[in-house]
Parts: sequence; C-alpha cells; structure tokens
Amino acid sequence: MMIELKNVSKWYGQFQVLTDCSTDVSKGDVMVICGPSGSGKSTLIKTVNGLEPIQKGQIIVDNIAVNDPKTNLSKLRARIGMVFQNFELFPHLSIRENLTIGQIKVLGRGADEANAKGLKYLDRVGLLSQQDKFPGQLSGGQQQRVAIARALSMDPIAMLFDEPTSALDPEMINEVLDVMVGLAQEGMTMMVVTHEMGFAKRVANRIVFMDQGKIIEDCSKDDFFTTTRSDRARDFLAKII
Ligand code: ADP
Ligand code: MG
Repeated sequence: MMIELKNVSKWYGQFQVLTDCSTDVSKGDVMVICGPSGSGKSTLIKTVNGLEPIQKGQIIVDNIAVNDPKTNLSKLRARIGMVFQNFELFPHLSIRENLTIGQIKVLGRGADEANAKGLKYLDRVGLLSQQDKFPGQLSGGQQQRVAIARALSMDPIAMLFDEPTSALDPEMINEVLDVMVGLAQEGMTMMVVTHEMGFAKRVANRIVFMDQGKIIEDCSKDDFFTTTRSDRARDFLAKII
C-alpha cells in the first residue's frame, strides 16, 4: 500500500471538516476524488502530505506515519508531487529556475543534474522552448504543465492533484489532461480531485465520492459509473455530466 488513510477526522476549530475517512491507494492506482464544493476534497488531499494536520486517525505514506510528530514532513513532501488549481509557480523565477530550485534546495542536487532533469520534463510537457520565459508570460494551460513538470523533476513516488484544470479556459483543459493521462498510463500513482469525468473514465481505476466531509463511495470506476450508487452521488453526477 502506498497511501493509507485510517479513520481520519479533522476539525477547523469547532467545524468538523473530515469525518472518519478511510481509503487506500496502491502503487499505480489512479484515484479520482469528486464531490460537491465544500465536501472536504482539498482538505483530504492536503492531509496526505501533511499540509493539513489531522486530529484523529492515521495516515501512512510509503510506510511513513504522516501525523507522527517525529516524521520529517519536508522530506516526505519532497517525495510527493502536488499540483494545485492555481499553478503556484514562483513568478519572479524563469521557467527553468522554477524547475530546478526545489531539486537544488530540497534534494541537494547539483545545478547540472537539476537542469538536465528539469528540461527533460519540460520537454515531456511540450514546453522546452519556453525555458527562459517567466510564468506570467505563459498561458494558464502552459503554466499548469510547467507545474506538473516541476513536480515530476523531484522524482515523486506519487502525485496529488487538486482541481488542476478548474482555473483554466476550456480550450486549455485538454492539454493538461493529456499530460495527466500520459502519466497515469505510465503507471504513476495519482490522487486527483477533479470533476472531469472524461478523465476519470479514461484512466481512473478508483473513484471516491465525498459529501459533507465523509467518503460516501469508494469503488472501482466501473462500479461508480454503472451500478447503483448513493442518491447523493447520482444527483451529483447528473448535475455535472
Ligand atoms: P472542497 O475542496 O471539497 O471544496 P474544502 O476541503 O476546501 O472542500 O473545504 C471543506 C470545508 O472546510 C468547507 O466548508 C470550507 O469552508 C471549510 N474550510 C476549508 N479550509 C478551511 C480553513 N482553513 N478554516 C476553516 N474552514 C475551512
Ligand atoms: Mg477544493
């Protein structure tokens, strides 16, 4: 098991945002997490690399207990790629520097190695020619592809995506999804919060549906789209498809 959540509960002050959430991700799994706005998807995915602490339960990533105070979270985070809705590139650094800074500062790689690795992934997302530009000079879809290349440059054991296409203009969504489909087909372990059900149908093997901080469905893709499921998941799907 690569990622395991056991009876995870979390509160923001008095407000319980996650209630008794359990699931697991094996190597090579592509899990799509969906559900209404405010259901706790972002919070759940951020607990996996310790960006959000939990008050109850246990999270284990690659045999490391994330919520153990003795765990070195920055070391763990270096091994898990995370891609957010709003790209979060460093605006004052060139694309090439965005790709190398984490490798140099966090992984201790030399500049040459970091450059080679960064450019390999920049090429892979089709943006090698953009290496000397700054994030503000690229389109949203291009920035998100750079963000994915940056995460891959760290040689992650798994990738977490939080609505990676929801801030993009429609014509740019596919260029980002295509990169993600390629990753999934190569066997990358992925947890993806998205409402892109076309993506889910193509490459997910697991679907989690959340509502009000609870995991309501956790099943194979085929079960989710074909067999009976909860009224809430059915209502949700009817609205978005
Ligand atoms: P989703 O990603 O499914 O839209 P979130 O995980 O972002 O849901 O949020 C779940 C709930 O927790 C929402 O009601 C949201 O308002 C609340 N919430 C999120 N972040 C915080 C925070 N830092 N402090 C207090 N409440 C928060
Ligand atoms: Mg969210």
